Amino acid sequence: MKNNIPDVPKADMHVHLEGTISPAMVEKLAKRNGISVPAGLIRDGKFIWDDDGTPAGNLKGFVKAYDDATGVMKCAADYADITYDYLKRSADEGCIYAEIFISVDHGKMVGLTYPEMLDAITKGYEKAKAETGIEARFISTCVRHYGPQAALRVARTTHDNPHPLVTGFGMAGDENAHAVADFKPAYDAAYDAAALPYRTAHAGEAAGPQSVREARDILDIRRFGHMVRAIDDPLLIDEQKNINAVPEVCVSSNLALRAFKDYASHPLRKFFDAGLKVVLGSDDPTFFGTSIGQEYQIAKQHFGFSDDELKAITRNAIEEAFVDDATRARLLARLDAAAPAVRKAPPKKKRGID
Ligand SMILES: [Zn+2]
Repeated sequence: MKNNIPDVPKADMHVHLEGTISPAMVEKLAKRNGISVPAGLIRDGKFIWDDDGTPAGNLKGFVKAYDDATGVMKCAADYADITYDYLKRSADEGCIYAEIFISVDHGKMVGLTYPEMLDAITKGYEKAKAETGIEARFISTCVRHYGPQAALRVARTTHDNPHPLVTGFGMAGDENAHAVADFKPAYDAAYDAAALPYRTAHAGEAAGPQSVREARDILDIRRFGHMVRAIDDPLLIDEQKNINAVPEVCVSSNLALRAFKDYASHPLRKFFDAGLKVVLGSDDPTFFGTSIGQEYQIAKQHFGFSDDELKAITRNAIEEAFVDDATRARLLARLDAAAPAVRKAPPKKKRGID
């Protein structure tokens, strides 16, 4: 594995499709679509953004860079390409499963209907799967700061266009916009016991512990995007343990957007040791200079996770993945088949000797 990436099967459980677009892909799509790359977006092969030294200014700069980069996407082929590119890169790092947020609203900005966007994404996924064996599912995600009505439209569109690869509903965006209860109609509208049974929501990243309780109690969810601010409330950690809550933890994202100032203050290890069912995610990997392989590497290097513990994190992910039973069993078998990283495979016996 390159860059000391741990040689264990991995799962990326919190990642936004548009947030995986690489600087090289932005340049490629801009050229193909006959537009110029926004000035100041890429330097030395990396995305950069204005940072005035405050958390709010940093977030504003990130959002602008994100909009500038994804603004070069103009057609279905672009969706297919970014999906393939992300999955291929992840599979090359040992990722066996990814669960990816997709956005009806962003598809619309590109000029695609939801079924057109899904078609393109499926093409990219099937190519990556055929080449590497990686599996993925998609979570249709509303954007909280677009408001409850927009969320309801996303939910209805998702519900009315069932797709075997779209198995969950989620909410991203500004955690402080509107009240959680305003989005209950959207969650109710999206739900379908057979076609769309799963749900998650961003909570406890920018907003505090109360946002986690509200998402849990009002939206009836057990899987949480981030949930890291739960560390501020020991009682909440216990409550979350009691419901077997799953925090989707994205360390590089949290540091880049200043939810925590350094690895030492980040709660990844504390969550794991407390018995929470931690999973890892890369969030918007190309913007945060990371990848799912690197998130596992950071867990090992900066939080002291052993390879067996990293495998336990992947097991959590597969156990809690938004998949059918047959897919879950297949992925667990793949995880179990992976040799413990510390033990080398025995030399092959030569035929005819014994
Ligand atoms: Zn996110």
